[in-house]
Amino acid sequence: MHDRIRPAISGPRAGSSDGRYAPLMSSNGRPILALDVDGVISLFGFDGPLDETPGRFHLIDGVAHCIPDEAGARLARLAEAYELVWATGWEDRANDRLPLILGLEQELPYLTFGGRARFGTAHWKVSAIDEYAGDRPVAWIDDSLDPTCHSWAKKRSAPTLLVPAEPDVGLTDAHVETLLSWAAEVSDAD
Ligand SMILES: [Mg+2]
Repeated sequence: MHDRIRPAISGPRAGSSDGRYAPLMSSNGRPILALDVDGVISLFGFDGPLDETPGRFHLIDGVAHCIPDEAGARLARLAEAYELVWATGWEDRANDRLPLILGLEQELPYLTFGGRARFGTAHWKVSAIDEYAGDRPVAWIDDSLDPTCHSWAKKRSAPTLLVPAEPDVGLTDAHVETLLSWAAEVSDAD
């Protein structure tokens, strides 16, 4: 077995619309980045022969996930400017294998959704992200952003950035640049 990666904060904070999230312990003034997994880290829907997939396959819970080798380095860059949080139907399972595959220094906090997760949509994530973020700036990258997500983002009083991803491409260098620029802007505004 691998050694467990130790979280830097008191532990990944799970939560749902039924329960309040614990206060942040070490945000260092950074904005939050809510991270989808399927369609952002784990890719699907691509065409072409198996030896030309956009990433290597990793077996997680018996399912093969295509994860580009570059994903970890991209997340590492984002982690310098953001407090990352898993915002995925994987919930706590996102910490089972992904930190090791991606080379993250620690497990990430994760959101839970009380059984509301529906593949191919994202509106069911809004309340958990909203509760987790409170009045802090938040960016959210997801391949299934829908009108509910966009209207929530417009109504937030704190800076909010929605970043759409393509499920067969996932997190790109261009996303990273956009997100880092936005984080710098938000920090300047503080
Ligand atoms: Mg997704």
